[in-house]
Amino acid sequence: MPEVHVKDLHKKFGDVTVLNDINFTIKEGEFFTLLGPSGCGKSTTLNSIAGLESPTSGSITVGGVPFVDTAHKLYVPTEERNLGMVFQSYALWPHMTVEQNLVMPLAIRKVSKEEKASRIYEALDTVGLAHLKDRFPHQLSGGQQQRVALARALVYSPSVLLLDEPLSNLDAKLREQSRAWLKRLQVDLGITTVYVTHDQDEALSLSDRIAVMFEGKMAQIGTPAEIYEKPATAAVAAFVGSCN
Ligand code: ADP
Ligand code: MG
Repeated sequence: MPEVHVKDLHKKFGDVTVLNDINFTIKEGEFFTLLGPSGCGKSTTLNSIAGLESPTSGSITVGGVPFVDTAHKLYVPTEERNLGMVFQSYALWPHMTVEQNLVMPLAIRKVSKEEKASRIYEALDTVGLAHLKDRFPHQLSGGQQQRVALARALVYSPSVLLLDEPLSNLDAKLREQSRAWLKRLQVDLGITTVYVTHDQDEALSLSDRIAVMFEGKMAQIGTPAEIYEKPATAAVAAFVGSCN
């Protein structure tokens, strides 16, 4: 059984269709990337998995649990989905220390005090920042903030990690370093990852498989080699072959 199963997903904002019949499955432990130009519907797809957007129709199942099934009026609220999410802007709380930022997701989940402390230590240790737990976000570099956001997403042991352009606010050099580090972490943790980017190099270097989207539609799903060497359409070839 796939870990993530998105079936016949449609989303309209008013009269505008932004997702048109999106289908894909993701295997357990896979690094799966939604790739496409700005506005093609990547974030809307990811947010639908996260429970931050409700699709107009379709179904989403994660780990065998139906999260959304519009045909049966089923909708599991976001806080019950056990997913870790990192946004483009990291969205750390600026008035809280690193440690306090990590406490918040656990506070909602009713975890004991001892477990909280050990989970926070483990999550920060995973991203190599346990020694900075008392700093505030403005006292961290962009790369460190990004790692804290990742630790916060990992702190309650999510089944799936959802990452929406997490490297796009970093400068080119740091982006390159973070890429390698992120891939290593994902492999070490063995966590199923849904990654969103408009950067074809990033997608090709990080992913087990890539789903290329244009204008709310799925153009092609395949391994980086398949996408690069056998693009299904001229649009995929042009997008994947172009340089940033
Ligand atoms: P991407 O992440 O690929 O850049 P999005 O999923 O954010 O694309 O957006 C897809 C399309 O849906 C865009 O045309 C965007 O303007 C539109 N859109 C996204 N969110 C909303 C919203 N809340 N209301 C209306 N239109 C939206
Ligand atoms: Mg987006």
